[in-house]
Amino acid sequence: MSVLWVLGAGQLGAMLKQAATPLGLDVRPVDIESTATLPLSANDIVTAEREEWPETIATKQLATHSNFVNLATFPQLADRLTQKQWLDRLELATAPWFPVESDSTAQHAYQTLGARVLLKRRRGGYDGKGQYWLKQADNTDIPEDWKGHAIAEQAINFDEEVSLVGVRGKNGEKYFYPLTLNLHINGILYASIAPLKRLNALQSKAETMLSTLMDALDYVGVMAMECFRIGDDLLINELAPRVHNSGHWTQAGASVCQFENHIRAVAGLPLAPMEVKNQSMMVNLIGVDLNYQWLTIKGLELYWYKKDVRPGRKVGHLNFCANDHSVLQNALSELNLPAPYPEALTWLAKNLP
Ligand code: ATP
Ligand code: MG
Ligand code: MG
Repeated sequence: MSVLWVLGAGQLGAMLKQAATPLGLDVRPVDIESTATLPLSANDIVTAEREEWPETIATKQLATHSNFVNLATFPQLADRLTQKQWLDRLELATAPWFPVESDSTAQHAYQTLGARVLLKRRRGGYDGKGQYWLKQADNTDIPEDWKGHAIAEQAINFDEEVSLVGVRGKNGEKYFYPLTLNLHINGILYASIAPLKRLNALQSKAETMLSTLMDALDYVGVMAMECFRIGDDLLINELAPRVHNSGHWTQAGASVCQFENHIRAVAGLPLAPMEVKNQSMMVNLIGVDLNYQWLTIKGLELYWYKKDVRPGRKVGHLNFCANDHSVLQNALSELNLPAPYPEALTWLAKNLP
């Protein structure tokens, strides 16, 4: 039987493998630093858990396989410059921006984008790393080493952040999870909650936007679209051509989770509309030690990534799914986590219907 290789062996690769096991599929995440010769066969399939990678012994073998799904799309979306150009070309609303070139000035940024401008590195940024604020009030200048390597984006005064996770099959059929409400603190995702009735009014607008993109790229698999909600409008913040942290709640809260859907799509297996179960919420474990006492909390599902704990590092997540909302409220009151978690848990409690 053919093997499904995953470029990257982090938590997303592990969860792809876990989701594919009941389907009887052989999924093998590959550490990009591996020096092994991979036993690739012509009819194997290759996917990725990350949108960019350095050229290594492992990635060279995978990236030259003829069944690497979406291979041409990764560089288009991994570079914020070309990603923004795609959004503009497809007339999809996004935060106003311009490329930061060698002759770009902060003055120009303030004139065209306003008094607060966010510089984002074109490549490699995640969890809010690779961002730099320009503030007119402080007379901030563009650092020399950001010129040619960043885009400048208008500061968006959004009401809240939502994301849409969808899957597209080889013949173009598409299915979407309900919009997820997300809380980022200092640029990193702390908590998600879905589904929320009050977001239903935005669902079809969001689906149309992500459909346009997936169709234009002839994309196969799961893609995530992060948005700012401003009143009834959505502005695309960024896209991820892979399974996404804001879709982790689907492991507990949907008949088919995002990981299984991605595997099904790239393996050419049937897709079907997903049944969404009850109310879900997700809490990322960021820089906190593993605590098995969490397991005493009703409704809690623990995912621990077995990574070294470091400040600001995602080391696991907690899923909750329940019909009875008092179970969720109780779980939140029982979770004892350090700052800034009280803010995240209060936010979840407030947003539970
Ligand atoms: P991810 O881990 O999601 O890949 P990232 O490092 O790629 O994150 P973004 O998603 O672009 O970065 O930004 C991280 C967070 O910073 C956003 O979720 C949002 O909270 C905030 N942010 C990003 N762009 C803007 C903006 N233009 N105006 C205001 N806040 C912003
Ligand atoms: Mg990102
Ligand atoms: Mg993001």
